[in-house]
Amino acid sequence: MAIKPFPELSEVQQDALVTRLQHWSLANGLVMYPPAFEAASAAVAPVTLFPTPFPRRSFKTAVAVQKTFNELYVKLVTLEKLWLVDIMQSLSQFDRDFTGKLFETYTRAQALGCKQPLSLGLFRLDYMVNDVAASDPPAIKQIEFNTVSVSFGGLLPRVGQLHAYLNQTGSYDNKYLSPYYDDGEVPVSLLDVALARGLALAAAHYSDTPAKTVVLFVVQPGERNCFDQRHLEYELLRLKVRSFRVTLEEAESLLTVNQDKLYVAQTMDEVLVVYYRLGYSPADYASDPAAAWSARLFLENTTAIKCPLLLTQLSGAKKVQQLLTQPELVQRLLPGISALDLDRIMSTFVKIYPLDLSPQGQVAKRLAFSEPENFVLKPQREGGGNNIYKKNIPQFLQSLDELEWGAYILMELINPPKFANKIIRNSEVYTEDIISELGIFGTVLFNEELGQILHNEDAGFLLRSKFSSSNEGGVAAGFGCVDSVYLHG
Ligand code: ADP
Ligand code: MG
Repeated sequence: MAIKPFPELSEVQQDALVTRLQHWSLANGLVMYPPAFEAASAAVAPVTLFPTPFPRRSFKTAVAVQKTFNELYVKLVTLEKLWLVDIMQSLSQFDRDFTGKLFETYTRAQALGCKQPLSLGLFRLDYMVNDVAASDPPAIKQIEFNTVSVSFGGLLPRVGQLHAYLNQTGSYDNKYLSPYYDDGEVPVSLLDVALARGLALAAAHYSDTPAKTVVLFVVQPGERNCFDQRHLEYELLRLKVRSFRVTLEEAESLLTVNQDKLYVAQTMDEVLVVYYRLGYSPADYASDPAAAWSARLFLENTTAIKCPLLLTQLSGAKKVQQLLTQPELVQRLLPGISALDLDRIMSTFVKIYPLDLSPQGQVAKRLAFSEPENFVLKPQREGGGNNIYKKNIPQFLQSLDELEWGAYILMELINPPKFANKIIRNSEVYTEDIISELGIFGTVLFNEELGQILHNEDAGFLLRSKFSSSNEGGVAAGFGCVDSVYLHG
């Protein structure tokens, strides 16, 4: 079936639609703090006016492989721990200030002994649709696998609900008569519920007495995206699980440890789960590095279940994603995997090359200079703004000693379709071509020593979009927006 075009509305109708969108968003918490905010004034999160078309079968493929990917990463950090540690050790030589600090904190915690083998992963695998004309259904290709502090689980269900509301009220129909999209074309993902369920399940595995216990949210000071986190806190409370928020810098003064158990000092509520909503970039440790790194070790060395453990966080390295493009490695990690599942998993990777002394590395070094326009160069960093794109790659590599190139991976660029959707940001309506990135969430509770999986779930999806003219798409950073899918085909 052909893709429906975006609704065509008159100026008056569009103005009315924007007002509805803003009121609904403010009434239902689809909000963020603006830059330089005051505590009492939130703003509507940047959002698309219409859901963005997404091929249904490509979407289904991404959902279908999520649990296998959860399992793959669990096996990596448990069964192949020594191998992973080796890789992390060599990567930390290149990036001493960050990967090096994470790795050092991990080894120091190991030396103190594992206090809690159970570990929770709230993962998000990000994708784009690639080269729509090349295959049917279009291929869906991985951007990256995130293992720490994945955001937008709280806000995204609200985007789906917002678009469903605008559709139901007839606001997308220029005769105000009927929904523009059919039932099932604009699904709502209950991510907030699923992520809260994951956290609550981990808490329940730790202790069956919920009185005097909490989940700890470790957050950035002055977080603009705090409502995303608050929605999870409120869902948790529905499940009778309370939570407590601290920043990394204040963790050691507001928390206390007794016989390896972690408590909120003031109330002596025991912390069952430590849920990180920061810690993925050097900026999160910058205001007081000594206190921040010390707190990371302090929390790691307790019986609370960590989401994630340091080694799980490290497994989200782009280098690991590059290594996983080898089917032999995937088979080694998942010996029982069927040929079909292996095919499906492998089909989500674009070519990713190391830039080292291996034969693949030699090929990559040539490609980086002969056809840089087809590639993005990525360091072992998270959180946006770190990648080097296209024609900037040769010059960037030349500015480094060739030995340092091994810290980077060279990834084929995905070529997603563009859509002329509209983005609402600060009351302005922008009409420009956008491209979209789908994120599939997974929750997995596992025993880090035994490699045993206690719970594995695909937890829902999100869509983020950005102007196709910008290389990166951070929503809080100001280039992107939250979106939802119109599934077609
Ligand atoms: P970070 O860890 O900083 O989020 P990502 O790997 O997610 O790094 O890259 C940041 C952004 O760059 C992505 O959200 C996407 O918009 C773009 N990007 C990354 N890899 C590719 C790729 N292979 N093809 C096209 N765009 C990409
Ligand atoms: Mg990313």
